[in-house]
Amino acid sequence: MAGKTRVGVLALQGDVREHAALLAQLGADAVLVRRPDELSSVDGLVIPGGESSVIDKLSRIFGMQQPIRHAIAAGMPVLGTCAGLIMLADDIVDAIDGQESFGGLDVVVRRNAFGRQVESFEAVLDVPAFEGEPVSAAFIRGPVVESVGPGAEVLAELDDGRVVAVEQGNLLGLSFHPEITGERRFHQRFLARVEARRRVTAPPQV
Ligand code: GLN
Repeated sequence: MAGKTRVGVLALQGDVREHAALLAQLGADAVLVRRPDELSSVDGLVIPGGESSVIDKLSRIFGMQQPIRHAIAAGMPVLGTCAGLIMLADDIVDAIDGQESFGGLDVVVRRNAFGRQVESFEAVLDVPAFEGEPVSAAFIRGPVVESVGPGAEVLAELDDGRVVAVEQGNLLGLSFHPEITGERRFHQRFLARVEARRRVTAPPQV
C-alpha cells in the first residue's frame, strides 16, 4: 500500500502537539484537523486531552460534530485521551449544562472524578493486552469510567478497580495521558487499527 498512514489530531483545543509528535515518531503522517474537509482526508483521529466542554462547543461551532459522529459510525479508528474519552462516551456524569459528546463508546464517564485536591497523579497500570512493562499513566483531572455497557471492553483499571481504559471496535478511550509519559503502545494499537482498515478499504492498485 502506497504512502504513510495519514491520521488526524482534532485541533480545536487541548494537548494537540504532544499527540502529533508521538504519532510522527511512530511513522505516521499526523495532520491537525479542524474542518470537515480535513477530517475526510485522514484514516483515523486522535481526540486529545483538554477541556471536553470547550472541545464540544468548538466542534459544534466549526461544524465538526456531525462529521465526527458519522466517521465514528462508519468505523473510523479513534483514540480519545482524557477529555477525548469524555467526547467518545455515550453518557457523561457531571457535564456542564448542555454539554454533548460525539459518543460511540458504550460507557458512562464521570468528569473530574479524582477530586479537586488530587488534581494530578501518576499510576502504574497493568494492561493485560500489552506485553512488557506496565503502563505509566499520568492523570490530570481525568474522568473515570463509571459503567461499561455490553458493547465495550475494559482495557485497564486502577488497583481499586476503577476503570480507566476501554475499547469498543475501532474506538479506544483512556482516562489518562500516555503521550506525556512516553507510553507509545496505545498509539501503536490505534495505528494498527488504522492500517488494518486501510488495507480493507483501499482501492485495488493497478
Ligand atoms: N477535566 C477535563 C474535562 O472535563 C479533562 C481533563 C484533561 O483532559 N486533562 O474535559
